[in-house]
Amino acid sequence: MAAGAVTASMLYDLTSCAHRVHLDLFGDRSRREKASAFVEMLWREGALHEARQLASPPPGTADLREAPAHLRQELTAAAMAAGAPLILGAEIATDGLLARPDLLRREGRDYVPGDIKAGVAVDAKGRPKHAYANQVALAADILIRSGALSGRRGFVVDRSGAEVAYDLDTPLGVRSGSAWSAYEAALGLASAIVSGQAATRPAACAACKLCVWRGHCREALVAGDDVTLVPHLGPRMRAAFEPHARTVAELASLPIGGDSEVVVKGIGRERLARFRDRARLLSSPGASAYARSVLPLARAERELFLDIEVDPFGDRTYLHGILERTRSGPGRETERFHAHLMTDDGEGEERRAFSDAFKQLTADPDARIYYWSPYERTLYRALQARYPDVCSADEVEALFGRPETIDLLNDIVNPMTDWPLHDHSIKTIAKHLGFRWRDAEPSGAASIEWYRRWLASGDEAIRRRIVEYNEDDCIATRVVLDGLLALPVRAPGERA
Ligand code: SF4
Repeated sequence: MAAGAVTASMLYDLTSCAHRVHLDLFGDRSRREKASAFVEMLWREGALHEARQLASPPPGTADLREAPAHLRQELTAAAMAAGAPLILGAEIATDGLLARPDLLRREGRDYVPGDIKAGVAVDAKGRPKHAYANQVALAADILIRSGALSGRRGFVVDRSGAEVAYDLDTPLGVRSGSAWSAYEAALGLASAIVSGQAATRPAACAACKLCVWRGHCREALVAGDDVTLVPHLGPRMRAAFEPHARTVAELASLPIGGDSEVVVKGIGRERLARFRDRARLLSSPGASAYARSVLPLARAERELFLDIEVDPFGDRTYLHGILERTRSGPGRETERFHAHLMTDDGEGEERRAFSDAFKQLTADPDARIYYWSPYERTLYRALQARYPDVCSADEVEALFGRPETIDLLNDIVNPMTDWPLHDHSIKTIAKHLGFRWRDAEPSGAASIEWYRRWLASGDEAIRRRIVEYNEDDCIATRVVLDGLLALPVRAPGERA
């Protein structure tokens, strides 16, 4: 690779964390952690998908995938000069930029770059996915600078095998620029990081969970008492807080109300008070969680705790776990776990598992149903659209719209409670309340990897691990409900 070149993987990482790019270039590599089994599965799935898409290249294709790395650029240039209709495994570089588009396709006098991706090519609004667009734009930029492409365009072959054209000049939204302008901004930042001119720092964010630098960054964040350790205060918001509070302790002391009231740009007073209160909890040793008002929760005779596992690669919802707690009298409670698990990867099994779970969830109209985050509702809508014979769209809306069906995270925990914790994931809150998962490395991402291995091997021990993990997630939801019911109520702003 050219020394100090900006690469496509840097631009991809930049969309989630600039510090990752810095650490990959200049960090102490002995501090990197091993990639998780889930990340390794992502790599494997990506490589498999690419191999499947490129299994039968048309005659005349210049296939450089097996060519020695140090000859790739030279061979790519030769194939382009010879007018190859399609080049696989190309490497192109110029002006400190380097890209390896999966495909280079000749269209008239142009070579158009394309990438093969195991994800969907567009975002929820149908626009080119930011991270993919950055990568395609880098290859297009190199080709334009080299005189091999006349327009800012490329394409992505997505997980379904469909080709999606990327017109990089199309505006992405009313107020946002084009994919090309986003690429130029990313390129500017990447170039500054590569040349050592841009200072980056860690920030607690969603990307940390799967990042190989997570332990290293965690230490730095805790040592610096960084404000992103406050739940939901991400790196962008940190910039707004910078003039007023750089640490959790400083945020905890921000004056709100009175003559010296602080105004943080873009953050309303109520939200600011919420962050301040959470910072106070974090910086008060021994502080405990509280509700900001009386919670709209009550015990019921029958309670169902729902948790769903999904394999995004196979596009299957493979497990609906339901923990049922029944109260038949004072002090008389029973619990039973039901695992509606697919036993093969076919549509018939997905439909059967969905149908069984839906029947159980709707059998008792008085049962209270608890789940964690809007994911379950979104998935049930998607499953209903796929299997309309199981239930109607109205029935799904009725199930999730009834007051007895509660999203504990978004209806209760986030808006109505504060915890002395750095995040509000179910793992963090349930562990804080004393619950321990049986699995040493519990995560939904890992469960997908187990599920795939179980399908391939039929190994009963793996099946048990999948079901136990899901059962523990359901029990954790019950533990959190009980914890919420026991929380004291404290008025906002009141000191612990
Ligand atoms: S752990 Fe988080 S902050 Fe650190 S490099 Fe990774 S994503 Fe960035």
